Amino acid sequence: MNNLSQTQKDIIQVIDDDAAMSQWQDWTWQLRHSIRDLDLFERLLGVSFDEEKQREFRKAAERFPISVTPYYLSLIDPADLENDPVFKQAFPSPLELVMTRADMTDPLHEDEDSPVPCVTHRYPDRVLLLVSGVCAMYCRHCTRKRKVGDKDAIPDKEDLLAGIDYIRKTPQVRDVLLSGGDPFMLSDERLDWILGELGMIDHVEVVRIGTRTPVVLPYRITDDLVAMLKTHHPLWVNTHFNHPGEVTASAREALGRLADAGIPLGNQSVLLAGVNDCPRIMRALVHKLVRNRVRPYYLYQCDLSEGLAHFRTPVGKGIEIMESLIGHTSGFCVPTYVIDAPGGGGKIPIMPNYLISWSTNKVVLRNYEGVITTYKEPDSYEPWFCDRNCDRCDLQLRTEDASEIKAIGIEKLLADHDKSIALVPGGNVRYERRGEES
Ligand SMILES: *Cc1c(COP(=O)(O)O)cnc(C)c1O
Repeated sequence: MNNLSQTQKDIIQVIDDDAAMSQWQDWTWQLRHSIRDLDLFERLLGVSFDEEKQREFRKAAERFPISVTPYYLSLIDPADLENDPVFKQAFPSPLELVMTRADMTDPLHEDEDSPVPCVTHRYPDRVLLLVSGVCAMYCRHCTRKRKVGDKDAIPDKEDLLAGIDYIRKTPQVRDVLLSGGDPFMLSDERLDWILGELGMIDHVEVVRIGTRTPVVLPYRITDDLVAMLKTHHPLWVNTHFNHPGEVTASAREALGRLADAGIPLGNQSVLLAGVNDCPRIMRALVHKLVRNRVRPYYLYQCDLSEGLAHFRTPVGKGIEIMESLIGHTSGFCVPTYVIDAPGGGGKIPIMPNYLISWSTNKVVLRNYEGVITTYKEPDSYEPWFCDRNCDRCDLQLRTEDASEIKAIGIEKLLADHDKSIALVPGGNVRYERRGEES
C-alpha cells in the first residue's frame, strides 16, 4: 500500500471524518465520496472563487455534470490552479458553453452507425460495445459529453444481450472493444459475464477494454478484478493518460497488476490545449508509460463535440509533437496521431512528411535530423498476376501456422521424410579439416 500524501489525509478529514485512512484505497469509498459540488471543491482546494466565477461554474455544471474522485482531485496543485493539468480536465470551464460553428452533438455519428442500441459498428472487422454509461470521473474533454450523467445511457441486461447477439450473428467481427462509460465501473460479476459470453463466440478472436480507471481511480484495479480478467485471454486494455503527472505511484501499481496478469496495455491520449500541447510534456508522458509497460497507441486530435472548443489545438501542434518523437525516441514510444473523421469516417492517421519526392526508380526521403537521402528502387519488378483465387495460389498466402513437426535427433535418421544420414557431434576435428560444419 502506498503512503497517503498530506493532501489526501486532509481530504479524508473534510469529506468523511470517520473514515479510516485505509478506506482511501477502497474504490467504492472513492466513488461514494466523489466531488460534485462547488462548495466542496473550494473547501478541498482551500480556495474561494468570486461570485462571477461561481455563477459560471454552476451554469457549466448544469449543462455538463461534474464528478471527480477524491483521489484524482488530490493530484491538483492548489497553488497553481490555472495551469494545473488535472484541474483543467476535472473542473468545468465557462468556455464549455461557448459553441462554435464547427461543433456537433455527435461528430463521429456513433448513434447512426449503431445497428442495436449499445453497438457502434463502423469498421469491417471490429465493433464498439458500450457496456456502461458510468464513469469514475467526468472528463471535461469527453467526446461523448452529450451522454454524460444521462441515466438512459446505462444499458440494461436486455440491451447488452441484444448487443452480444448482434456480434454472435455477425461473423466478420473478430475484435470487440468494450467501452462506455467505463467498463471497469461494472461489478466484477457483470464484467465476467460479458467477457464469458463474448468468449463463447468462435469468431471473436480478441476483446479490448477501454478504461480511465488507472488514471482517475487506480484502486479499482484490485487483485480480484485482475484474477477474473486473467481468465478471459486474449484480452487487451487501453488506458487514457494525458499528462505525465497522472502517472503516480498508485497508477503505476495498477498498471503493474494488469501487466503482470499478461494483459497487453496501450494508452490513448487526447491532445488538449493547456494540458499536454507541448513536445516536452508528451515526450515525458510516453517515456513514463513505456517504463510502466504501457505502449502509447493513439494521440487523438480533439473531436468536434460541443463544449470542447477551448481544448482544441491546430493540427499543426500534433504534427509538431510527432516530429519531436519520431526518430528522437524509441519507436514503441511513438503513438499514431489520428483525427477521428467527423461524419463517422473513422480514425485517419496524420504524420509529418518524410517522402520528399520520387521518380520512376528512386524516392527522395528526409530523416528526423533533416538529412535528405535516397532509396533506389529495383530496375525491374515483375508483379505477380493475381486473380484473387487464393486456393490456387502458390505464393506466400499460406496463413495457417507453419508445421512444427520437425524430426529431432535419432528420430531424424529414422524418418523417411528427412534426408540426413549421420549425426555428428560439434567440434569434430575430421569434419573441421574438411571445412564442413559439424
Ligand atoms: C476507435 C474505434 C474502433 C477501434 O479502432 P482501432 O483503430 O482498431 O483501435 C472501433 N470502432 C469505433 C467506432 C471506434 O471509434
